[in-house]
Amino acid sequence: MAKIGWNVESANKLYNIDKWGVGYFFVDNEGFMVCSPHKNKKQTIRILDVIKEAKESYDLDTPLQIRFQDLLKHRVVSLNEAFHKAIGEYNYKSKYMGVFPIKVNQLREVVEEIITSGTKYNIGIEVGSKPELLAAMSLHTNYESLIICNGYKDIQYIRHALNGRKLGKKIIIVAEKIEEIKSIIDVAKELNVVPLIGLRVKLASKSMGKWATSSGENAKFGLSTVDILNAIQLLKEENYFDSLKLIHFHIGSQIPDIRVITTSVREAARFYAKLIKIGCSIDYIDVGGGLGVDYDGSRTIFPSSANYSLREYANSIVFGVMDVCNEEKVKHPIIVTESGRALVAHHSLIVVEVFGKIEKINKLKDIKINEDSNKLVKEIYEIRQSLSNERIEEYLHDLEYLKKQAKTLFDLGYLDLQSKAIIESLYWDIAFEICKKYNDCDYIPDEIKELQNSLSDQYLLNFSVFQSIPDNWALGQLFPIVPIHRLLEKPNYKATFGDITCDSDGKVNKFIDLQDVKDAISLHNINGEPYYIGFFITGAYQDTLGDLHNLFGRVNEVHIFLDSDEEKGWYIEETIKGSTISEVLNVKQYSTEDLVRGMKKQIDFAIKSDIVKPSEGMKLLSEYEKALDDYTYLKIKSK
Ligand SMILES: *Cc1c(COP(=O)(O)O)cnc(C)c1O
Repeated sequence: MAKIGWNVESANKLYNIDKWGVGYFFVDNEGFMVCSPHKNKKQTIRILDVIKEAKESYDLDTPLQIRFQDLLKHRVVSLNEAFHKAIGEYNYKSKYMGVFPIKVNQLREVVEEIITSGTKYNIGIEVGSKPELLAAMSLHTNYESLIICNGYKDIQYIRHALNGRKLGKKIIIVAEKIEEIKSIIDVAKELNVVPLIGLRVKLASKSMGKWATSSGENAKFGLSTVDILNAIQLLKEENYFDSLKLIHFHIGSQIPDIRVITTSVREAARFYAKLIKIGCSIDYIDVGGGLGVDYDGSRTIFPSSANYSLREYANSIVFGVMDVCNEEKVKHPIIVTESGRALVAHHSLIVVEVFGKIEKINKLKDIKINEDSNKLVKEIYEIRQSLSNERIEEYLHDLEYLKKQAKTLFDLGYLDLQSKAIIESLYWDIAFEICKKYNDCDYIPDEIKELQNSLSDQYLLNFSVFQSIPDNWALGQLFPIVPIHRLLEKPNYKATFGDITCDSDGKVNKFIDLQDVKDAISLHNINGEPYYIGFFITGAYQDTLGDLHNLFGRVNEVHIFLDSDEEKGWYIEETIKGSTISEVLNVKQYSTEDLVRGMKKQIDFAIKSDIVKPSEGMKLLSEYEKALDDYTYLKIKSK
């Protein structure tokens, strides 16, 4: 039901959707969140429709992860076009070749989509381990594109890479330390192939924010200037000088400030130029990842934001490299980027259902006060009766004082449960009334803000923070969170979230805001119908980092494709069923057979001992067996 003064624009503004949604996500005229994978307002997908279709046609419940494959394609094209444009505008004399760092999302369908939609741009793959390399080698069929091998390497890792060279793949092994160069040379001699070698340089330029430690002089990775000269010496001695083809740096993920990128690119370009001048035949400069995603939509240097666009990013890299090369009078190198987050973050979201709430305002049914009531009870009752608009802050201070007194009395044994309940009930009641008076004020004093936050309810969500948004727990990273429907109704409740793990860290109590961070999110009342919350921009890193806390497993997943032949304009191309209970138990070494055998033994014993009837016993066993095939999350009662 639309309320006067509240409309789509209000919802947009409250959740800042237009800003972080960058055209991919917005609210339609009927108050539903929609995805527009190509930023085309005529081709939209209602997220609630996807939830319904997943349930009705595939029996897949929430929590549900939704991937928009066309959005992924749009990201790949946008990144490449941004560089092509910059190269054209600046008249840069070489080209751009992106590689996708597979660690950011290793799901086969994601990697395949990126490779397919990036074929015409020769998009390659960046790997950091043997498993990643083996996956990449099989998927990589466009031999014009690169495979870049980062991370620490043993002999086997190097061997796999050089085996790929034998097939004619452009696999570049980036040395993180000098010993790796020795190993590369040894294996190359043994296999009789010409390796392509890169050097990771340790830049002095430092990143900022949550991922800053990948850079600077104390970074875990990379070669110092002395190391680089020693490496070159070694390559020359062993006759592999011409194998040095690339210089690389990576100063950290989610770099919020474009100035950091500009500075580090120029520093790396200087290394490139000086190396060319001493005779190296380097072809590529690889500027790593770090391209930021504006999760809160504030366009600032806040850690969950970025103060630049894709276009500005491409421009500053192309221009920076070119400017340094022109100054130094060396040829322009091929520019490689390893953007992961910016390619995959937007394409995926997770939808979870609210299954209850813990309310602060919890009124005792009938409050009776009489002569004999406790003095504190009488005083707080007095405040409730005389509450008026004037002197409201004074009431607040009295109220806080009474609350403290009540705690002391209870601790000393002078307050009975009934009086304590009356005091608490009146406290929240008065607090609510005080906050209400500030509802439509432009300026809200800090102590009222604090009170407002303390009044917020806790909405309980059927998911695990640790499985689905681990960076929120581990790093305090913010993701945009919005109810996916009812956005024509004004959300009148302030709330935080609790998940279903038995862990007090399983909560979300920081939310995006244009200014700073909000301590509560505005939500609707729960009205008996399912109420769904979307966690957006979760396509980067979260899937892989997610863990099995409390044995809540992988969530159900659907992949959506646009298709104009379909009546709705889209279809579910693929479904991946979330983990079953037996699957997560197997990971921890409980074999299904053993579990069932263990139960059967106990049930047989119970039957023999006449504790249960045989038919009952058999029913118990069959229920246990069936339950092992269930989803690990709560089955919320149908309403
Ligand atoms: C993680 C990583 C990336 C990806 O960084 P994003 O910020 O996600 O683009 C790129 N290169 C290297 C070496 C990495 O370790």
